Amino acid sequence: MSPLDLALFFTPIPQRIARLRELAYNLWWSWHPEAQALYSQIDPDLWELVYHNPVKLLREVRQRRLDQAASNPAYVRLFDAVLADFDAYMHNRQTWFARHAPYAPTSQAATPVVAYFSAEFGLHESLPMYSGGLGILAGDHIKEASDIDLPLVAVGFIYPQGYFRQRIDPEGQQLAEYPRLNVVDVPVMPAWTPDGNEVVVEIEIAGRMTFAKAYRVQVGRIPLFLLDTDIHPNSEQNRELLARIYSGDEERRVAQEVMLGIGGVRMLRQLGINPTVWHMNEGHAAFMVLELLREQVVQGMPFDQARHTVRSQTIFTTHTPAPSASDAFSMNLIEKFFWRYWPQLGISHDEFMYLARQDKASGPAFSMTTLALNFAERCNGVSKLHGHVARGMWHWLYPDRSRDQVPIGAISNGVHTASWLAPEMHQIYDAYLGLEWPDRLDNPDVWARIYAIPNDVLWSIRRRLRQNLVAFVRERTRQRYQRLALAMTAPILDEETLTIGFARRFAPYKRATLLFKDLERLKAILHNPGRPVQIIFAGKTHPSDDVGKQLIQEVYQLSHTAGLQGHIIFLEEYDIAMARELVKGVDVWLNTPRRPYEASGTSGQKASLNGVPNISILDGWWPEAYNERNGWAIGEEWYSDPEEQDQHDANSLYCVLEQKVVPLFYDQRDAAEVPNAWIAVVKEAIVTVAPRFSARRMLRDYIEQCYVPAVLAADESAGET
Ligand SMILES: *Cc1c(COP(=O)(O)O)cnc(C)c1O
Repeated sequence: MSPLDLALFFTPIPQRIARLRELAYNLWWSWHPEAQALYSQIDPDLWELVYHNPVKLLREVRQRRLDQAASNPAYVRLFDAVLADFDAYMHNRQTWFARHAPYAPTSQAATPVVAYFSAEFGLHESLPMYSGGLGILAGDHIKEASDIDLPLVAVGFIYPQGYFRQRIDPEGQQLAEYPRLNVVDVPVMPAWTPDGNEVVVEIEIAGRMTFAKAYRVQVGRIPLFLLDTDIHPNSEQNRELLARIYSGDEERRVAQEVMLGIGGVRMLRQLGINPTVWHMNEGHAAFMVLELLREQVVQGMPFDQARHTVRSQTIFTTHTPAPSASDAFSMNLIEKFFWRYWPQLGISHDEFMYLARQDKASGPAFSMTTLALNFAERCNGVSKLHGHVARGMWHWLYPDRSRDQVPIGAISNGVHTASWLAPEMHQIYDAYLGLEWPDRLDNPDVWARIYAIPNDVLWSIRRRLRQNLVAFVRERTRQRYQRLALAMTAPILDEETLTIGFARRFAPYKRATLLFKDLERLKAILHNPGRPVQIIFAGKTHPSDDVGKQLIQEVYQLSHTAGLQGHIIFLEEYDIAMARELVKGVDVWLNTPRRPYEASGTSGQKASLNGVPNISILDGWWPEAYNERNGWAIGEEWYSDPEEQDQHDANSLYCVLEQKVVPLFYDQRDAAEVPNAWIAVVKEAIVTVAPRFSARRMLRDYIEQCYVPAVLAADESAGET
């Protein structure tokens, strides 16, 4: 079905604005607020009801609304301007990639393509195909690949029930809802082979033939291909295979990863796409290398040579510093799935198992990280500190080397600027950095112009963003109370109060309850006369994680106790939309992980970009960014006893708030009530973080350090044969 064939499902659109439908199917709109305005202006209430999803809006909008828009000159002007921008973007020939030609010279006829595999992609709130930071990073990676025009195709899953929607009941218990995704309601279309046929991948999963249909999401210039097993010929069990992200038992998990890795390669072949570089975002996709090997071996290449070829073109990014969190499956389970597969590789059972073996306390396991490390010439962690931690974790795989020589480098994460920047901030950046700043957004010189923004201008925008956030929080809270048929009792938040944000997965290592260690001291901080503080919490935890759910309940219940109520708010359903509101609207962004378990963290980068400084443990990306002037560090001492560490870190957090953050925010204001010393930190946060922790810088690092060498290696091996 093309969008035109889908016309049946849509309200007829007047010819003058007919391209609204085409635009709805390119997620370019997701990082262009003026494109979203084209839809929201047609029917603002419906826009909220369909949760900012243009496809659904066009399906449900009344004809009269469309006619009104088409005959409104101001609307049509905006429409023309946005479509002109869209066309200029899609047809631009002077892109970063065209200007830098990083792969030239190569003997390959076509420009080499990178395939990027990830189990999740966080692109927009209307496409629930992500659970957290890993997915958001993958989404930002492909949006940035589009902006710089890197030839890349992405591979993932469509989950008909997505990740869950979080509800918090009046006792603070997390409830999981799984609204069913209807493919015709989202900007997703079937994918086609070059001859115009439907793409259906066949794969044997533990003895049963399983089919997956390929869909396509267009992300600017980049296609994201998604596999869906919820199709007719599959057994009920296999239809459910990809229903939800990361759910089910180990067996389901292996089946999902077989589908992603092996099914993903087969899907690209059917699509007629033959990538030169293969990038695995986390170990979930690592079975991919087995399929690449198999392809070569069945064509007669000796195993060792095939292994060498595959390795030279494969990139692996590891994301977890917690050994327990990386996938390692029992050998029995792997046998069940692969007993017909290893003969096709021309190797024995034992040789096969050794490709990924990791000895655990519970016995030998088939580790996806080991497999990926063994088959990727270039491997990296996601911050400098995480690279170091990962070299330690996987040192055992390289017994002849010192820890520092373990071949896992570091490419620090960055965020897709346009997706996370408040439109209000975008406007002043346009005014002070020059309109061309998005073309050079990883250039620190461009950002040094931030210092020239008058403090009162910046402060008035920061205040407005806080006021908007308070309105957002009040509205979300009102909706929740209404749904639960509860009466709102106390007033919520204040528009001029220093506001701290804490939103992330409630994994225990993130220590969401650290702030509550000393309740009296916390209350004193919140109610300090003339210098009050308020805090907004949000976060989900995996529905089967009882410890995480306990933490949510604890924070929720505390936020309803006397002295905290109205000043500490827990918002339900943390997602991309809420993250966007929070990172631009609060005054400070708080992060309290137990070092070194935060591989990178990116929400603090989103915050800094908007002039929201971090107060954080020196973990993940923060040690690289922190310069004593762009935010605050807490807990700079390390203890072996976790309880002692918590005590120390909580104390440090209170001290920093009491002695540094709060006084800087409220004291020393000038005659116009502008906190100049505070604004100095705000500016420093923007200047130091925006260029270096951008997805632009991150993509350039991947290109220089990984993609270019892989392309050169492919060129060499092509020359040899
Ligand atoms: C950015 C983001 C994350 C990841 O942020 P962390 O700093 O790693 O916690 C998770 N969830 C959402 C919705 C995000 O936008």
